[in-house]
Amino acid sequence: MRDSNYLIPWNKNDVERKTTEMLVLGSGIAGLFTAIKLSADFKVTVLTKSNIRESNTEHAQGGIAVALNEDDSPEFHFGDTIKAGAGLCNIEAVKILAENGPECVREIIAMGAQFDKLNDRLKFTREAAHSKSRVLHAKGDATGEEIEKVLVADIKKRSIEVQENVFVIDLLINNQGAVAGVLALNNNTGRLEAWLAKAVILATGGLGRLYKYTTNPEVTTGDGIAAAYRAGAELMDMEFIQFHPTALLLKGAPTFLISEAARGEGAKLINSRGEYFMESIPDQELAPRDVVARAIWNEMREGQVFLDFRNLGTRVKERFPSIYKNCLQYGIDLTTTPVPVGPAAHYLMGGVKVNIAGETNLANLYACGECACNGVHGANRLASNSLLDGLVFAKAITERIRAKNSPLNKWEDIVPPANYPVTAPKPSPDAERMLEKIREIMWSKVGIIRDAEGLKEAMDRLQVLWEEYEPDTKQKSLEVANMLTLSLVIVQAALSRQESRGGHYRSDFPETRNEWQKHSVQQRGVSHVRYVSI
Ligand SMILES: Cc1cc2nc3c(=O)[nH]c(=O)nc-3n(C[C@H](O)[C@H](O)[C@H](O)COP(=O)(O)OP(=O)(O)OC[C@H]3O[C@@H](n4cnc5c(N)ncnc54)[C@H](O)[C@@H]3O)c2cc1C
Repeated sequence: MRDSNYLIPWNKNDVERKTTEMLVLGSGIAGLFTAIKLSADFKVTVLTKSNIRESNTEHAQGGIAVALNEDDSPEFHFGDTIKAGAGLCNIEAVKILAENGPECVREIIAMGAQFDKLNDRLKFTREAAHSKSRVLHAKGDATGEEIEKVLVADIKKRSIEVQENVFVIDLLINNQGAVAGVLALNNNTGRLEAWLAKAVILATGGLGRLYKYTTNPEVTTGDGIAAAYRAGAELMDMEFIQFHPTALLLKGAPTFLISEAARGEGAKLINSRGEYFMESIPDQELAPRDVVARAIWNEMREGQVFLDFRNLGTRVKERFPSIYKNCLQYGIDLTTTPVPVGPAAHYLMGGVKVNIAGETNLANLYACGECACNGVHGANRLASNSLLDGLVFAKAITERIRAKNSPLNKWEDIVPPANYPVTAPKPSPDAERMLEKIREIMWSKVGIIRDAEGLKEAMDRLQVLWEEYEPDTKQKSLEVANMLTLSLVIVQAALSRQESRGGHYRSDFPETRNEWQKHSVQQRGVSHVRYVSI
């Protein structure tokens, strides 16, 4: 693959030109909330690669953490988030999250979001590493679906343009080195489009699909992060990936998430001999995700691991209706039968490096939600903090954009790829096969437990794939190119960090070390990983 700021060659005369003021990429919680907030002052266009609903947000189950319960406060929420973050949280960002969370959640309740209640009062659940019951949920375990539904309904009431099935390939850069818009593939027309805007807001989500086992839906291929990286944006903390301890692990079934809240409500982990194996672990089922994931991973060397809901009785049907129905579809009745589970890639703590107003190192480029990293989650995200992150920092971005009000970029200022015209290289024939290899390498060598030997092997094998792969202009092929790019970035960061912390565990460096209490930063064209304190 070529190392260029554009993934494919393109020519100014071959693309359809489009203009807007604010270009929001992605239609999960972060993208839609940003679009809603900006729409009062700007013409806003949302580009999204599938239908508007498809996103990690739509699949979020457990809930949204917010300090609204009587015995809770932003100070407690702050403290729990900092503790989970394993020494790498950006203190200022966590303060903003905890303090502004209640206002943002009240706002989506006012928009129509219906969280579960008991006797007219909001019902809060407790999840791992939370010292209080502070997680609001909807329809038991369909919190994301409820939030996404409400945001989409609100978007439709406003004059916000939403373009579905438009796949963003790259960021357009102008002759000042600033971001001026995006190059996209419109899958409705099959044409390449160039969108110009005053500002581009990346809200394209994470990269779970890089891994063989993941809870993330198919759209989660890291495209926005890869495009930003190609354009010269700094990425931060890319080695920190959260593996959810309990996804359904059944042949022929998707790796469907079994929410953390299940353990919060009393479901127990047992091994294939029916034995409970979490006694020796502090906080047991409610230990941080990385701890529980490693305990399960170790137990899985001996055989299968199961989550046992039987002590919840028939309550499981009301409290976790989607999980119950999904398991039943694969022949498992949770009231009578423990469900086989295993860890799966779930959430990226790292992403495009931003400050607390969502600004990147590239002018006119902002990022929020899971694709962004301001350090709010540190090395390990506290359960149910990411939906809140999407709301709180989307709002912060819009305030900064409004204050700046940059001029609209001009078409003549756009710098097309230096290597055009070229004969397009012969595309690699089989994107699917390439993807399978990438996902296998990432799972086996760059997953829950890493070491130098495995990481070096991963680097070598990924580099061979990089040499042999050329994307064509089909979405799948472009996604694979993005996943290959980001796999190499993650391996480099994971190899460089010689310690264990949060979501990054090195069996050859099992301790957390003070000298590594800093954030990794990577940028295209810079061969080494830099470290910064924030
Ligand atoms: C199964 C599951 C359960 C979860 N449960 C919880 C929970 O209970 N609580 C919690 O806080 N968090 C939870 N999370 C995490 C949380 O859902 C996500 O971190 C959060 O929703 C991310 O929101 P986002 O808006 O940043 O990205 P997303 O919601 O993932 O949205 C990204 C958007 O970008 C679009 N996109 C991507 N690439 C392109 C491209 N190239 N061109 C155009 N569009 C593109 C996608 O189609 C999508 O619309 C869960 C995640 C999963 C997968």
